[in-house]
Amino acid sequence: MSDFARYSRQVVLREVGVNGQQLLRDSTALVFGLGGLGSIAAAYLAGAGLGRLLLSDRDRVERSNLQRQVLYRQTDVGRAKTEAAAAQLCALNPDVEIETFDADAGVEAIRAADIVLDCTDNFPARYTINAACVAARKPLVSGAAIRFEGQLAVFDTAGGGPCYRCLYADDGEAAETCEEAGILGPVVGTVGALQALVALKWLVGLREDAGRLHSWDARRLQWRTHTISADPDCPVCAGKNLGIHR
Ligand SMILES: [Zn+2]
Repeated sequence: MSDFARYSRQVVLREVGVNGQQLLRDSTALVFGLGGLGSIAAAYLAGAGLGRLLLSDRDRVERSNLQRQVLYRQTDVGRAKTEAAAAQLCALNPDVEIETFDADAGVEAIRAADIVLDCTDNFPARYTINAACVAARKPLVSGAAIRFEGQLAVFDTAGGGPCYRCLYADDGEAAETCEEAGILGPVVGTVGALQALVALKWLVGLREDAGRLHSWDARRLQWRTHTISADPDCPVCAGKNLGIHR
């Protein structure tokens, strides 16, 4: 291992160890959306020593992002998020190979990833990413946060589970936005941190999280967990998640 001191606090965990660290080193994660969720998630993945981090976003840093999107500095306002994020993550851990994509190229890059994190904030992007993950048989870690509510779920259709579309049918409803409804930084940061946690666990072989929806009431600090059922008529995954792998 090239940098034991850097990773010693996680290598000492029985569940990670030297083998787990090597698995992380050999892994590629793709983060869609470098806002409040993706800022935190990407920072933890880079810090943990993933071999490759693929970043996808089409936006530029705005002043109103700085309240919660902790990868960016005042001087980054106006800069492409992919560029500003890559610079910060490279400064954090130069051993991580970082590649950036706009949104469409990011979807193509799914095939190169071992795990995908959906940190976007709108239904069209979420449906597109989900469909591409189902087609490429890649695990998807989905996070969302608005007001005082957070959600986290892992989808693994290759392992026989449901997909994002099984949970949210496309009924044409527009998602509420944080611009209109509001968000506190730590609410979205908590969900982003959990997306990174789930991804790291998955990559070292701890894969018990798929197919459940975790909902967080950030005012009462209470979590609830629901099992997500695969929709036999799902237009995205029906016939592809036969459950024969479990
Ligand atoms: Zn489905």
